[in-house]
Amino acid sequence: MNIVMFGPPGAGKGSVSAFIAKEFHYSHIAAGDIVRAEAKRSHNKVEEFMKKGELVPDKVIMELVLERLKQPDCKKGFILDGFPRTIAQAKFLEQKKVHIDVVISLVVDEEEVVKRLSGRMMNPKTGEIYNIFTMKLPKGIKKENLTQRPDDKPEVIHKRLEVYNEQTAPVMQHYKKHHVVVDVDANSELDQVVKQVSAAIKNKRK
Ligand code: AMP
Repeated sequence: MNIVMFGPPGAGKGSVSAFIAKEFHYSHIAAGDIVRAEAKRSHNKVEEFMKKGELVPDKVIMELVLERLKQPDCKKGFILDGFPRTIAQAKFLEQKKVHIDVVISLVVDEEEVVKRLSGRMMNPKTGEIYNIFTMKLPKGIKKENLTQRPDDKPEVIHKRLEVYNEQTAPVMQHYKKHHVVVDVDANSELDQVVKQVSAAIKNKRK
């Protein structure tokens, strides 16, 4: 099955997709990871857009995602996490005849999103992600040794949410007309959200 994982920044798209990919043996394609890898690899302006909380140009991300979708592992099914984020990107998938079986929409309150994003910290040694506002740090892990994504700083979070409301939210109206959309309440704990998404996928596979 091919799935689009949809929702605002901080909805938990990445974490939920990782669990679902593991459970169903699908490929997890995270647009944000593709953009971060591209920013490291090349010296184009990709990183500047990201740091400001803006979307990278459609043309750039479309080419990168299409290349990824051509990889053989995608044949077993994939989860698109963070793509499409504009109507043009959604239409691009349709033009390229990329079939989507179900769109999972993670629905979460803006207040919760801000708390999750501003508290998100990474252990630079292991890549593990913690949240200093919503969880207790494991023993031996100190807040001062953790790093924050440059786009999780408060002023950039605000910009990302603005971009989501203006450019990405309208994609849902488009999808509701053309695809099967399943709304999942993503305000609760991660394992609860994963359970609901997993049930929706099983239901769709029947
Ligand atoms: P994420 O890790 O999904 O929050 O993405 C991080 C950043 O990568 C975003 O704020 C954008 O700058 C860029 N990005 C990710 N996905 C897309 C997309 N589909 N279209 C344009 N820019 C994107």
